[in-house]
Amino acid sequence: MSGSATDGELSRGPGEGTRAVRAGLPEPVKYEPTLPGPVFAAHFHLPGEPTGPYTYGRDENPTWTHLEHAIGELEAPGQDDVETLAFASGMAAISSVLFSQLRAGDTVVLPDDGYQVLPLVRAQLEAYGIEVRTAPTGDDAQLDVLEGAKLLWIESPSNPGLDVCDIRRLVEAAHSRGALVAVDNTLATPLGQRPLELGADFSVASGTKQLTGHGDVLLGYVTGRAGTPMTAVRRWRKIVGAIPGPMEAWLAHRSIATLQMRVERQNTTAMAVAEALRGRPEVSGLRYPGLPDDPSHKIASQQMRRYGCVISFTLSTRTRAERFLDALRLVDDATSFGGVRSTAERRGRWGGDAVPEGFIRLSVGAEDPEDLVADVLRALAESAL
Ligand SMILES: *Cc1c(COP(=O)(O)O)cnc(C)c1O
Repeated sequence: MSGSATDGELSRGPGEGTRAVRAGLPEPVKYEPTLPGPVFAAHFHLPGEPTGPYTYGRDENPTWTHLEHAIGELEAPGQDDVETLAFASGMAAISSVLFSQLRAGDTVVLPDDGYQVLPLVRAQLEAYGIEVRTAPTGDDAQLDVLEGAKLLWIESPSNPGLDVCDIRRLVEAAHSRGALVAVDNTLATPLGQRPLELGADFSVASGTKQLTGHGDVLLGYVTGRAGTPMTAVRRWRKIVGAIPGPMEAWLAHRSIATLQMRVERQNTTAMAVAEALRGRPEVSGLRYPGLPDDPSHKIASQQMRRYGCVISFTLSTRTRAERFLDALRLVDDATSFGGVRSTAERRGRWGGDAVPEGFIRLSVGAEDPEDLVADVLRALAESAL
């Protein structure tokens, strides 16, 4: 506890590892567990007037409350006017923001290079008479289609292309036109980026990925300033019932305790893998926002505190990519990302993303960096044989 560095740490409040392990914990109560277990309840004792907090299990649940506090403390530290709502999945959270804020005749701006389910959402929005405009994430192209929009949807970094936009700049332009702004924060996690501090109205994410990090839970959340828009999101959750189970919510909360360790390890290793792939003749189109010469790096370094655990690159053909995936021993050929066990996939197998046949999305896990780099380089060499 001596030395100016430590004093400096103390004067700016707890570090993020400390905040992660303590996030959302209730006040200590003698003989109670430090993190209370999942509360399985469809209804609660409720004599008399049916007022909150806990009435019916689709409206509120104490296990969600702890998790929502935890996420809120990481998404918007020190901000008391912020509210978080947990959902059954990332898509439940995304849909709840879109469908609670938009009406027939409204216009929404989406990215055209975002999560692969967005085109399905687009079709549904259009079926309800909502005008949908799209533009790429890179070069802040969404700026050009903002006029008259009610809501701007940002995904930065975008999945799977890893492009980044200047969130502050887009927020300013959207707000000056009276539009709300939501940022999909899935890839960055709240330890990598805090959209509300960059001015956004909502930070929305899939907790299925690095937030929970073990590939065993589906979850989503919305964090926003308390007020009319969040009230509408809460109402939408109640209407559609897109609620997490208590067990999932509890597992997610437990997993957040290790978030800082996981992102530190995974993101540092992602940088090492990206550096190992850079300049390899078999690899083209290498993207990682942490690489100093990546097209995303300049803006990313101004608004992100970490660059994520996802790398993308392209091998010359589909066959090459399949051979590479096949040759990997420490990386599972599986979709999704952010887990402690590395995964990779040929993204083109799904259709829908505008990517080359040999495009690989690699999610770096918590293995020893030397082992992982060696495995990737060996598989790369074998794929060329
Ligand atoms: C996975 C993902 C989603 C959807 O989340 P689910 O939990 O699968 O519903 C949304 N946005 C991004 C960027 C994602 O990667």
